Amino acid sequence: MIYISLGSNLGSRINNLRHAVDLISEGILSNIRCSNIIETEAILPKNAPPAWNKPFLNMVISGEAKLSPHALLTGLKAIEQEIGRPAVYEKWSPRIIDLDILLIDDAQLDDPQLTIPHPELNNRPFLLHLLAMMGLQNCHPQACSGSKPTDSEILNQVQDDRLYRPTKSLSLHPALVGIVNVTPDSFSDGGLYNNTDQAVEKIWELARNGASVIDIGAQSTRPGAGIIGPGLEYQRLKPVLDSLAGPMDSGDLQISVDSFWPEIIHKLLSDYQISWINDVKGELDDDTLKMIADKKCKYCIMHSLSVPVNSSEFLPSDANAMSVIKEWGSRTIERLLKLGLALDNIILDPGIGFGKTPYQNLDILRSISELKILGTQIMIGHSRKSYISALCNAKAIDRDLETIAISLGLMHDVDFLRVHDVEGHMRAMVAYNAVT
Ligand code: AMP
Repeated sequence: MIYISLGSNLGSRINNLRHAVDLISEGILSNIRCSNIIETEAILPKNAPPAWNKPFLNMVISGEAKLSPHALLTGLKAIEQEIGRPAVYEKWSPRIIDLDILLIDDAQLDDPQLTIPHPELNNRPFLLHLLAMMGLQNCHPQACSGSKPTDSEILNQVQDDRLYRPTKSLSLHPALVGIVNVTPDSFSDGGLYNNTDQAVEKIWELARNGASVIDIGAQSTRPGAGIIGPGLEYQRLKPVLDSLAGPMDSGDLQISVDSFWPEIIHKLLSDYQISWINDVKGELDDDTLKMIADKKCKYCIMHSLSVPVNSSEFLPSDANAMSVIKEWGSRTIERLLKLGLALDNIILDPGIGFGKTPYQNLDILRSISELKILGTQIMIGHSRKSYISALCNAKAIDRDLETIAISLGLMHDVDFLRVHDVEGHMRAMVAYNAVT
């Protein structure tokens, strides 16, 4: 078994880790297992510039490879560069990604290019902690001999030392899309972020808590909401996006804009580095879709019958909602591919709460794995929605417990969960991962 550590303290750290795991699983390791992610302070020499003092996100993956140790190192260095790390860099300087080989079975190597086990392993308690959390004793029983630490010595050290207590733990999968509504009439947060400063503060809080993408919407879609029109939507979005333009350009923040107005989408894609367009209506014209394709922006399409939700427009109660969504999905994806969108850039959302009865919403969630057949990434937006009132009588803003429990049931079958409570989701997913 091979163990590789991944660290990032520049840019969108969780997305950098995910990118690296994807590339490693495509070309280097098979049967990959991922640890949780923990945040640690940068390890720096005394004279390091203060700007280097940026916290890292760290994780470990295990897997198998047929490569020689040196070919493995070469492959990992190529991935570091593909993600954006320069070939030459100053030791200790911040890095978009750092990949180190910790262990390769019971191999011991010490040459100018490669030392196995990794020479710093014993000096980094957070790595020992992550290895122990992965149950190292089970998957790597052979002990290293000689002066190198054995697996059991590594584990003993973790057990002897004070338990390592991470200050922040995150889960890599599924990616979380944090929700910020810059509306006075949102169903789920009652207009808490209807002010630029509050919205921007909330966006950074969600990103710090581990959201990979933040979805900003200025049009409420709740039943009975009025259509505000493109002018007011732009007025609400512009100051927020102006405040975030720098981090969006540098890749520190990935922003999704929730809009179905072609003129707004054209303007925003021209003026800002928008990562996703989240289209809850699915009625965009060919020109707008081609622009989204040209910009290599991700495009999220959602199944809906009416936007805002019209409480009298439902799928027939005897309809098989999943079949309807699959049929709509394959038709829509075919059109998008013809217009130049890459399959990898299309995200499909079955539209929980948009024209389905509570029972149909729950049926969709139970059979969510069927959407894999469409070949796109899948996002679920189930957070705090009213189908949960079939399960409890909490108000929308108090439905995070149910939302999180449902998320845990979905997490192996979806790529993105669009949620309000990012911190709560991370805590629950980290604990769930620790025992599954
Ligand atoms: P870093 O700045 O941490 O990425 O250091 C990378 C350099 O350390 C590489 O160019 C390797 O030649 C060398 N090295 C020695 N042992 C290892 C190891 N176990 N894993 C990764 N790099 C190693």
